[in-house]
Amino acid sequence: MNHPSMRAEIIAVGTEITSGAKLDTNSQWLSLQLSDLGIPAHFHTTVADDLQANVEVLRIACERCDVVLITGGLGPTRDDLTREALAELAGVPLKLHQPSLNHLEGFFRSRGREMPPRNHTQAMFPAGSEPLANPIGTAPGIWMALPRPGRLPCQVAAMPGVPSEMKKMFFEQVRSRLQGGGMVIRRARINCYGLGESQAEEMLGELTARGHDPEIGITAHEATITLRIIAGGTTEQECLRKISESSAEIQQKLGDYVFGSEDEELEDIVVRELNARNLTFASVECATCGLLAERISHVAGAAACYRNGIVLPVLTDPLPEAADKVQHQSGADFVLVIGAEVIAADPSGHMLSTIPLGLFPKQGQPLTIQLKWSGNPAITKSRAAKSALDLLRRHLANR
Ligand code: ATP
Ligand code: MG
Repeated sequence: MNHPSMRAEIIAVGTEITSGAKLDTNSQWLSLQLSDLGIPAHFHTTVADDLQANVEVLRIACERCDVVLITGGLGPTRDDLTREALAELAGVPLKLHQPSLNHLEGFFRSRGREMPPRNHTQAMFPAGSEPLANPIGTAPGIWMALPRPGRLPCQVAAMPGVPSEMKKMFFEQVRSRLQGGGMVIRRARINCYGLGESQAEEMLGELTARGHDPEIGITAHEATITLRIIAGGTTEQECLRKISESSAEIQQKLGDYVFGSEDEELEDIVVRELNARNLTFASVECATCGLLAERISHVAGAAACYRNGIVLPVLTDPLPEAADKVQHQSGADFVLVIGAEVIAADPSGHMLSTIPLGLFPKQGQPLTIQLKWSGNPAITKSRAAKSALDLLRRHLANR
């Protein structure tokens, strides 16, 4: 699916990043863009504003990767060294590019200022490179093919560090230069709840194996499991066909653990299904301090089915009585109850959290479970709120 043998490295330049003063978000953004083009990033490197360090990381990157994207270090100041590092690595001098100088002078003139002499360096480019225009800033970018003995040249794009300038330059000038194979990439996400990552992997078998076409990856966020399908092909139609075939396979293997796709959350499904049947629900929360209500508050259409959300610091009543009270107050068809959390050490000394959850339908059998969790305590509450929603989601799916 990926470009055969094409791999990329992203280099973020700046002492503000290596020192920890600033987080490198540009690399993350560039990686996502590259993966849309079917070019996997194998390395993220950050490097200080230091010439020798820049030459070193560039040398390594051009050796091990076919595409190198650089962000930062193109400014006018003495510590902006990307263009010098490129020239040194390629063994070529820096040469003046008159149109870039004209643009720089015009940029300052349009702001009623004289161009400071130092900005002159921004019009200097390694011989043999191609300037990339920066219509919204001063620093032009650089496109360069660095020759490699016995191999195709390494394609290098140097872009500004300012995120808005970098993004514009990438979209307008770098992306088209990287699109060699004319490959189309389409993605899809399938969301699951109630199983762990490794369990999902086991159930999916060779679907998640390396080299599977389309590629299917698993990620987890606060107990929601997301399967990411990345399909490549020569046409969009081919990609969509691959996605729909593997979606069907996933659905067949994971059954009702699958609850939705793309950005859908459990609460979206619950609200949609209740509204489709003109049913209503209410909630009583203790351990989660209102997290369930908070999730519901983001869903369009929730007002039509969500009758009442009560948050209690302590739950003195047993779950059925708590549900009964709210049911009488609200008239809701379902009441979800999240009880109080009990934390105790298990026999092996791990802290084990237990939270009782209940689904109480106006008609029919109640369902209660004890949610046990010895994992990261930071997600205990979120998991309890989601698990309560999942009880109702499954109940509605099986009616
Ligand atoms: P340019 O080539 O655009 O001049 P530069 O490295 O010379 O880049 P700096 O002055 O170092 O520019 O940074 C400009 C702005 O861009 C700063 O606010 C900086 O924090 C931000 N920036 C630089 N690199 C990154 C990065 N990798 N991720 C996020 N922000 C960044
Ligand atoms: Mg910098």
